[in-house]
Amino acid sequence: MENSNFPWGHHRRYNAYAQYFKKIFGQRVQKISVDAGFTCPNRDGKLAHGGCTYCNNNAFNPSYCNPSKPIDQKVIEGIEFHKVRYRRANNYLVYFQPYSNTYAPLEQLKNLYESALAQPGVVGLVIGTRPDCIDDDKLKYLQYLSKKYYIIIEYGIESIYDSTLNRINRWHTYDQSIKAIMKTAEYGINTGAHFIFGLPGESRTMMMDSVNEISKLPLTTIKFHQLQIVEETTMAMDYKANPNDYELFSFEDYINFIVSFAERLNPDFIIERFAGEVPPRYLAGPGWGLIRNDQINIAIEKELERRDSWQGKYFST
Ligand code: SF4
Repeated sequence: MENSNFPWGHHRRYNAYAQYFKKIFGQRVQKISVDAGFTCPNRDGKLAHGGCTYCNNNAFNPSYCNPSKPIDQKVIEGIEFHKVRYRRANNYLVYFQPYSNTYAPLEQLKNLYESALAQPGVVGLVIGTRPDCIDDDKLKYLQYLSKKYYIIIEYGIESIYDSTLNRINRWHTYDQSIKAIMKTAEYGINTGAHFIFGLPGESRTMMMDSVNEISKLPLTTIKFHQLQIVEETTMAMDYKANPNDYELFSFEDYINFIVSFAERLNPDFIIERFAGEVPPRYLAGPGWGLIRNDQINIAIEKELERRDSWQGKYFST
């Protein structure tokens, strides 16, 4: 296929996040991660105390995130931090990242979100949360904010299989995820989802089969991660005790798998991330070495090119 014929109208072989934002804002948009001091119902005892078995938020939290400072200060410091590295960015999305960032009374959420949006250069919010931490009042409010700002709610879904969700102690079902996503999209709010590949109990076939189910969801963006075993988690202990229960992806296997997955994925979904790297000091299992995200994307694009393929080539409704 000629590059210009890709459904998303640019040269890349998948519907890439960076180009999507360039189209909306006319330039690069930089995300600023903030830790707003939330917890989650899987940690504070509402559902459970232990958390999801793989969860160690420290491993994913950028070093400039500090939950103890006021939100406006965190945003300003985050912008300063990124300005040194990415001088071309003048537009920022504040990414409420660790824990469940809609898990608080609405008035508290309003204060936090509006303090972030009030900072110069901030054009919107990315709000990471669980599918069971949203309701109509919060969605109505976020619908109102969406009229003026770019707002996206990013749900941690992780798997479409309840057997897996039980095994990793998510304490929600896939049906709850579908309902939260449908409702968010009905409110006209951008909706994102996050999935993990390689969770214990899931075969490669189960993972690949989930593409048809995922493709039916009304998603704006999607993120994938390969499972990595992170220190100081329940999963790290389980992995040490039962390593044969885990079939972790090597880098080459994962590229092959995720490219085949992308070929079957709904081409309307904007892919934000194919894989993620935990800093090696947090790893309790095998890793891929110091591979950067852009190197992973290059390997994926090369494999798509080698196959003369693209996102959604084999997608069928
Ligand atoms: S992964 Fe999210 S939902 Fe699970 S324990 Fe960690 S913060 Fe809570």
